[in-house]
Amino acid sequence: MTQFPLDIFAQTRTPFYFYDLNLLQATLTEIKQSVSQPHIHVHYAIKANANPEILKVIKENGFGVDCVSGGEVEAALNAGFAADKIVFAGVGKSDWEIELGLDNNISCFNVESAAELDVIQEIAQIKGKTARVALRVNPNVDAHTHHYITTGLAENKFGISLDMLDSVIERCMVSPNIELLGLHFHIGSQITEIHPFERLCQRVNELQDKYESQGIKFSSINVGGGLGIDYNNPDENPIPDFKAYFSTFEQHLKLRPGQQLHFELGRSIVGQCGSLITKVLYVKEGVAKKFAIVDAGFTELIRPALYQAHHKIENLTSNSTKTHKYDVVGPICESSDRFGEAEILPTTSRGDLIALRSAGAYGEIMASQYNCRKLPQSIYAK
Ligand SMILES: *Cc1c(COP(=O)(O)O)cnc(C)c1O
Repeated sequence: MTQFPLDIFAQTRTPFYFYDLNLLQATLTEIKQSVSQPHIHVHYAIKANANPEILKVIKENGFGVDCVSGGEVEAALNAGFAADKIVFAGVGKSDWEIELGLDNNISCFNVESAAELDVIQEIAQIKGKTARVALRVNPNVDAHTHHYITTGLAENKFGISLDMLDSVIERCMVSPNIELLGLHFHIGSQITEIHPFERLCQRVNELQDKYESQGIKFSSINVGGGLGIDYNNPDENPIPDFKAYFSTFEQHLKLRPGQQLHFELGRSIVGQCGSLITKVLYVKEGVAKKFAIVDAGFTELIRPALYQAHHKIENLTSNSTKTHKYDVVGPICESSDRFGEAEILPTTSRGDLIALRSAGAYGEIMASQYNCRKLPQSIYAK
């Protein structure tokens, strides 16, 4: 369970991110214990959090990286990740990003359209290189998650639809500078049920059977990420059930001999280790409500405004035994700048420190300077 060092917090300018690197390490250890077979490779989806201290811990544990931009490829290389552990997805790779990947010999481009495949072939040819690719397939599996973070349905900007896959595979075969490694999938994020992953396995099996009968074999299968975390109970469930997650694939996925299996996990690795710490500026008595106005806003943590997400809110410093309901809101000049409605908190006053829990993923990395605000600092427990 994350301990908050209040003495250090008292000397740190709010708002800031607090990362429990012990919990991060325990999470990584749990993953490693859940996947011991050498054909399984876990890539950290760096878009969830690219904080250098976090990357350092993940790298030291031997994980690979999943990138979705050239900037992320650079961040991964700067953090010391080996190029042969970097995979690179994204629907709109610019020419310079493709060049960067080829120049550094990254392990795989996850290709999302026929048009992109042609550009990669062209650039690889000019460089006299071979681009290793996996085709990102849209498996038409409903992830049962928020529509903004569902990516695996049939018509979607992500990936290649099932009925176009034949032709893109053929195109790989006739592209001299393309080496097709296999298929890539990513059905969405914050998936808390096991069934979508089971359906994904079935879909992969169907596709493998189909292409095997045509004499096409894949050396690797990448099933993406998307495993969710328990936002309501970060202390009770600080580490997701990785054993159940990985064993779903072990049970349902029919891998061929020698086939490599890749995962790309973001949120489930870093989500629970981070909290956004903010100070109460004012408690405003409204007409029928109390507002706790804090010094963090959606500039520091945009998930509530963007996805109607809820982060558990805790008053770390109030000693009151009485509770009240508060709308917890930020200072940004937008009505969507609200972290919680009718939150039950102990009597809250100016100066109290509030933790927004489970903010390690898609928190700091999505911070902006809207309203000319300063980007948040971060501190660590090691
Ligand atoms: C975002 C993303 C991931 C990671 O998703 P999580 O839900 O954070 O695990 C994996 N693969 C791709 C291609 C992504 O875009």
